[in-house]
Amino acid sequence: MTASSPLIDLDALRLDDARALLDHGGTELPSPGDGAAAYLQRMIDRLCELSLRDPLTGLANQRQFRTVLNREIEIVARSGNSALLLMLDIDQFKKVNDTHGHLAGDKVLQAVAKCVNGCVRPQDTVARYGGEEFGIVMPDCQAAYGETVAERIRQSVANLSITISPVLQLQVTTSVGGAFAPVWVRSTADLWIERADTQLYLAKAQGRNRVCIDHQQVISVSAEEKSLLFGSLVLAEGAWSEPGEHNTPTFS
Ligand code: GH3
Ligand code: MG
Ligand code: MG
Repeated sequence: MTASSPLIDLDALRLDDARALLDHGGTELPSPGDGAAAYLQRMIDRLCELSLRDPLTGLANQRQFRTVLNREIEIVARSGNSALLLMLDIDQFKKVNDTHGHLAGDKVLQAVAKCVNGCVRPQDTVARYGGEEFGIVMPDCQAAYGETVAERIRQSVANLSITISPVLQLQVTTSVGGAFAPVWVRSTADLWIERADTQLYLAKAQGRNRVCIDHQQVISVSAEEKSLLFGSLVLAEGAWSEPGEHNTPTFS
């Protein structure tokens, strides 16, 4: 037992595996210097951090991506703010691996991750969704701004010259699909991802190295529901469709 934290006996805890995990993950190991409770808290904080990151790129991993998406869905449903999800996939990435090897492929993934991360705001989340696909969650994002950023990301990656070795530089392109979260209604992370993925598929089908964004934020509510929801708020033009008198809110 230590004087500063009588409830925790560090020697009785088996922390070797946790320390090894942090060490392996490139995280600085906390030192037990400031008392057992503070030390344990730092260990837990760093393990949490590690569990939310993709080890190759340092970006948020899929677990964290889904947490952020779900949080954003809640915010959009309550505030009606616009939020954009971009799904980005490196074009013909298999060729990079096949031609230059898996390690070269890994370097490309790291460079693209860094580049994309450098194109967005601090409040945006860039995640490695899996393989050579990335997800970017942009809260509070108006349509024109979202389009500009998506295009900036695409161009920035295309302009990258990625150093693989002193004699090899590679360039890659990306396809980007985007979808805005439906406002005022609770959607699901899966539906949102699916809509952005559909746009990504379109970008691939149209020849790759392009951005396709679904601007649809269509919901339909009755006039009664609308006045209950909005009171005196002014609605953005085109944000609503009203196919029937007594529709319940729907979304795509
Ligand atoms: P498309 O333009 O249609 O997206 O073609 P693509 O070649 O990029 O897509 P495909 O799905 O055929 O290939 C993706 C490749 O990504 C195959 C897989 O081996 C590679 N990959 C996935 N994860 C990693 C990784 O962590 N490192 C490396 N080096 N390659 C990976
Ligand atoms: Mg690909
Ligand atoms: Mg892919």
